[in-house]
Amino acid sequence: DYALWQRAYLSGERLEGQLAYWRARLADAPPLLEIPTDHPRAVGPRPRAGSHRFALSTRATRGLQALARREGATLFMTLLAGWQALLGRYAGQDDLVVGTPVAGRDRRETEDLVGLFVNMLALRVDLSADPSFLQLLSRVRKAALEAYAHQDLPFERLVEELVVGRSLAHAPLFQVTFALDRSGGRDLLELGELRPEPFATGAAVTRFDLGLTMREEDGSLSGVLLYRAALFEPETGERMLRHLEVLLEAVAADPRLRLSDVPLLDDAERAQVLHAWNATAVQHPEGCCVHTLFAEQAACTPDALAVVFEDRTLSYAELEREANRLARHLRRLGVAPEVLVGVCLERGLDLLVAVLGVLKAGGAYVPLDPASPSERQRTLLADAHAPVLLTQAHLAARLEGYRGAVVRLDADREIIAREPDEAPRVEVAPRNLAYVIYTSGSTGTPKGVLVEHRSVLNLFAALREAIYAGRGAGAPPRVSMNGPLSFDTSVKQWVQLLGGATLYPVPEAVRVDPGAMTDYLRRHRVEVLDCTPSQLRMLLGEGLLEKGGTGVTDVLAAGEALDEGVWEVLAATEGRPGWNLYGPTECTVDVALSRVWGTRPVIGRPVANARAYVLDPAGEPAPVGIPGELYVGGVGVARGYLGRAAQTSESFVPDPFSGEAGARLYRTGDRVRWLADGTLEYLGRLDFQVKIRGFRIEPGEVEAVLREHALVRQVMVVAREDARGEKRLVAYVVPEAGTEVTRAELRTHLRERVPEHMVPSAFVLLEALPLNASGKVDRRALPPPEHEEVGASVAPRTMVEEVLAGIWAEVLGIERVGVEESFFELGGHSLLAMRVVSRAREAFRVELPLRALFEAPTVAALAERIEGLRRAGAEAAPPIERARREGPLPLSFAQQRLWLV
Ligand code: AMP
Ligand code: MG
Repeated sequence: DYALWQRAYLSGERLEGQLAYWRARLADAPPLLEIPTDHPRAVGPRPRAGSHRFALSTRATRGLQALARREGATLFMTLLAGWQALLGRYAGQDDLVVGTPVAGRDRRETEDLVGLFVNMLALRVDLSADPSFLQLLSRVRKAALEAYAHQDLPFERLVEELVVGRSLAHAPLFQVTFALDRSGGRDLLELGELRPEPFATGAAVTRFDLGLTMREEDGSLSGVLLYRAALFEPETGERMLRHLEVLLEAVAADPRLRLSDVPLLDDAERAQVLHAWNATAVQHPEGCCVHTLFAEQAACTPDALAVVFEDRTLSYAELEREANRLARHLRRLGVAPEVLVGVCLERGLDLLVAVLGVLKAGGAYVPLDPASPSERQRTLLADAHAPVLLTQAHLAARLEGYRGAVVRLDADREIIAREPDEAPRVEVAPRNLAYVIYTSGSTGTPKGVLVEHRSVLNLFAALREAIYAGRGAGAPPRVSMNGPLSFDTSVKQWVQLLGGATLYPVPEAVRVDPGAMTDYLRRHRVEVLDCTPSQLRMLLGEGLLEKGGTGVTDVLAAGEALDEGVWEVLAATEGRPGWNLYGPTECTVDVALSRVWGTRPVIGRPVANARAYVLDPAGEPAPVGIPGELYVGGVGVARGYLGRAAQTSESFVPDPFSGEAGARLYRTGDRVRWLADGTLEYLGRLDFQVKIRGFRIEPGEVEAVLREHALVRQVMVVAREDARGEKRLVAYVVPEAGTEVTRAELRTHLRERVPEHMVPSAFVLLEALPLNASGKVDRRALPPPEHEEVGASVAPRTMVEEVLAGIWAEVLGIERVGVEESFFELGGHSLLAMRVVSRAREAFRVELPLRALFEAPTVAALAERIEGLRRAGAEAAPPIERARREGPLPLSFAQQRLWLV
């Protein structure tokens, strides 16, 4: 009766009215509430749930009840507002939807019917513009009242109507729920003489990621949190309730608090993230400088090899003497503390002579990459105002117009050799500059980072403590110098000269060839290898860590995120040779590190005398598990940017936590979170900065250089992943009206001005950049580069890809399909998906499930699946043939299901 009634009632105008309301109300709602999880979201329903309970203090309970009354709201609305405030902070979202059940017994006729009438309402709330809790409460009140007025539309109808791309990984419309149970469990059914009693069901299950049920009983509030156990660890659930409790207590006491000011951390957690996990202080010998420590080491091990390059070597004593002579020569040219010396050299022994020579003269070196365009080098030299340049004859010729003194280490060798070989006497303090390294600048010009001796010494000590001390006794290690001097990774290599290591600068031609590189490492029995994850991936392919591959015992991966694949390989390698090192140039190379082991990539713990703070946008410490921006404090923090006071004060901010006078924190722009064990997980950037093959690039700098081109009107540069999942730069260019500009011209323009890694690999010419509603460039609407716009082709590469691309093109009715394009973005939907899958089953004779296309929505990915299935020899179901049996035919499963209902 009810069903008939409901169908008649919910039709025509009434139905349209309700649908129209919900359609408008949920327009553009975020499909997923991104609560940070402990485990990645996997496809498929895994309903097992964990649960935790909490109780609020009587004071807070009373406060919330009174608040609700004062504001003309219900307790439900007040608690929901608190829950949503917490979710907003967790997810970093200011628009979110929470589901809440309504009983659906709003008619007399159904009051004493047995049955389930419950409906779920999607309550969307706007947390934007940082409202006070009071303001939020009034928003929630309005949203709830409206939703109640439209509560008849069944949730299933709403999903049917509103949700376009269903995801297998999460529930549609909302993934988090809230309910207030006021029955207290006592007004149970009355069934004559029967006395029903509640009892616990078996293992808890949930259809949602998180569900909070609050209960009001005997004047006090308590709650149960149910969470999907596949996503969250029990301690995360417990922590979440602690945060909710702190939040509710705070808003009960003062509902005028802005949401960003509402505390989440209790004192214990605050002390843990601010202090306990940053207890890294170590006393280092005071008053020394980099070059004085080197001199001490040279006196200790004069005959040990300091540098080996191809077939030439320098012992510690020889390096000490050569560097001393160069230093004396530089002194004559006016080099002294705080004087900058450009260093532009090919790889070789002289690299180390130059670095130590400059330091011994009291100056600071400014490395320039000889491979970058001469225009670029001139820009940097001019920006640095370096009065002296150390280089080689053939490189000097390219830097015509430089007005300072030029020292050519090859051509001027004899002049330098005439200097005495004792160190010059110079007053250098630990606070003096050691080097200036340039990094990409988003406003268009690179910026020089000023690093002091004390920071370099701390790096040396920190690495020794964290990595080298654990290597056990034995000869000091043979260390590769792989990255160029202009890349600050080189510092952590050459600084090993202070500990007696032998350095192996890797020749350029070897470095770029993974096969040659492994050979080189094997031949020289190199033990410590520094590299970027991109290079490491290739070297692993060459058997770097396999038995008999090389003698490398420690791999120091740094410079960009270490992906899971490489992490796994390193973690599974005997002896666990892998290290993940994290750090911006502004904090002296490395500030956090982790041995590679366990299941997930982390950047580990802060190194000696470094402190890590994960802060929310209000500058308050983020709770464990919740992403925030990483701020770094400690001895490694650089002095600032050369000649850029404004940028310096923007990025180097006062340190409110250490209590040290004048201490500053560097704002990294990196998104990270603390894990429960006190290690940091890297989650990406908060700005547009990208890393490509370990090179730090501000797309804004590339844009600025492109804009200098006369025919370029507008430009936007972004990093996109190509078919193989590799990041590359893509430039979107709008030429001046009525003009034409070729990709080749743009490429050349850049090649003359920026290093190769900053030249985009694809140029897309557009008539206009796509804009979003607020008039800004809509990054997501930028089209992927077409085949001809990219150097590499994205056309099918294998037979399987070819056949699949053909099927797609036919089913989708389009001409050509790139192997990395998503089926659903090309207009595919589940019906067409069915067609693709059935044709693919036929063509490849494999049992391909429909969900395979949802999980692997590109030709490339699906082809991989199919190939896997074929290798596994999975048999296809036999074709359906016309039945020849006599007598009644069996029912299909679907028919059976129908009959059984
Ligand atoms: P750079 O100044 O070239 O050292 O670049 C620093 C930036 O590179 C950091 O702010 C991070 O964004 C990124 N980065 C460096 N090392 C790592 C790492 N181990 N994992 C993830 N990102 C890293
Ligand atoms: Mg770095």
